Amino acid sequence: MIHDKYELVIGLEVHAQLQTESKLFCGDGTSFGAQPNTQVSAISLAHPGTLPVMNEKVIELAVKLGLALNCSIVQENYFARKNYFYPDLPKGYQVSQHTAPICQGGYVSIQTNDGKKDVKLNRIHMEEDAGKSLHAQNELYTSIDLNRAGMPLLEIVTEPDLHTSDEAYAYLTELRKLVRWLDVCDGNMEEGSMRCDANISVRLKGAVTLGTRVEVKNLNSIRNVKKAIEAEGARLIALTEKGEPVIQQTRSFNADNNTTFALRSKEKADDYRYFPEPDLPPFFINAEYLEKTKAAMPVLPVVLQQKYISQYQLSEYDAAQLTNDKDDADLFEMIVEHTNHYKAAANWMTAIKNYCTENNIDITVFPLHETNIASLVNFTETGKVSFNTASTKMLNAMIADPSQTAESIATSLNLLQESNEGAIEGWVNEVIASMPDKVKEYRSGKKGLLGLFAGEVKKRSKGKADMQLTNKVLIEKLS
Ligand code: ADP
Ligand code: MG
Repeated sequence: MIHDKYELVIGLEVHAQLQTESKLFCGDGTSFGAQPNTQVSAISLAHPGTLPVMNEKVIELAVKLGLALNCSIVQENYFARKNYFYPDLPKGYQVSQHTAPICQGGYVSIQTNDGKKDVKLNRIHMEEDAGKSLHAQNELYTSIDLNRAGMPLLEIVTEPDLHTSDEAYAYLTELRKLVRWLDVCDGNMEEGSMRCDANISVRLKGAVTLGTRVEVKNLNSIRNVKKAIEAEGARLIALTEKGEPVIQQTRSFNADNNTTFALRSKEKADDYRYFPEPDLPPFFINAEYLEKTKAAMPVLPVVLQQKYISQYQLSEYDAAQLTNDKDDADLFEMIVEHTNHYKAAANWMTAIKNYCTENNIDITVFPLHETNIASLVNFTETGKVSFNTASTKMLNAMIADPSQTAESIATSLNLLQESNEGAIEGWVNEVIASMPDKVKEYRSGKKGLLGLFAGEVKKRSKGKADMQLTNKVLIEKLS
């Protein structure tokens, strides 16, 4: 295959909009979907004479993310002006730390089918967002909404260290999980609060120098990043095979037909005439501030995962499922304060998450107290009802009346499993008598029929027969 000759090289730039109450340098609100130009004070509008004031919360969020991503945090920090003209940039420059990032180095650990890998980061820096140009409203005019102007962003930039679309997918999934975990950013790519540009080049496998890169902008979902990398990678390989040069370009991805198209070429570096922002003093991050911030951080998912595997003996899969989302992990932690049946508690978490999805509620408002959930966990561990029955029928019953005990619900719904061997033998005998042909087949070697007999017993017992015992009795009687 043609691809085997080449290697893709990918570097991702992610802009994460921070979950702060106010903008980076003024008190304007930050809610998404507000009426256009309603979150715009004189500062957002860049009226002459206005001055920026640093929002301290932004530094805190940058440091938190940097610590979580194993970066080194720079002590002496300052902002710079990145000068360019665009109608949605009222000041004519963007205040950024592009040249002097607050966080340097670091990595994000990912897992793909090819195994585990630490994706190297180049930097994380703070900057303000620009406004939004809306071209679709009227063909003669472009509308400008400045609500977004001055919103705080963190730009998280990787080294050119990714080599497949799967790695890029895993990286973004992990990064989104972490920014959500830390309450840094809501990670919503559709609403644009997390945006990704993918830099892509190709080279012969084994080559050391980097090929000419193309930057694909405006990718609005993790799936589209993956698809864009695949489409652009194929295009670059086809060009190279034909002996045509790759032009350094900014491109866009059209998800409808899975192709990229050129926006502008980028032959020489843009001249942004960076210089230190004179209206904002440098700021310093000392050891004491770092310690304080570290202490206020939640336990990271990777630490919880290790605990679930080594202390709770859960599988890697269960541990990963429980730590995909901090709210899930928080609930699980509360449940296991009241029970040490960890595997059963993990199974119940799946049932709880299904309930939340079906009823379209957030897990933080799941209606049962953790002690009730723990009592369900403990009850299913006794084997008196199957987990399936309990999770479908008992969960709803307990939500309807949380004052009941698990035992009383099971009794009143007539769910207690029949584990009286005599009763089970009765149903087994009936089933064997009613299916002589199948019994013959079973005895001549078709052992797979056991499930059919067990199903019949289940029917006759109206679902109450203890299936483990049923199988045991069936095997005895049939042999
Ligand atoms: P710019 O602002 O010009 O886009 P940045 O340094 O912010 O530059 O980002 C460049 C991104 O592109 C980084 O993620 C980097 O790893 C990646 N990159 C740089 N050169 C290449 C290349 N030849 N192929 C693929 N990715 C690259
Ligand atoms: Mg770039």
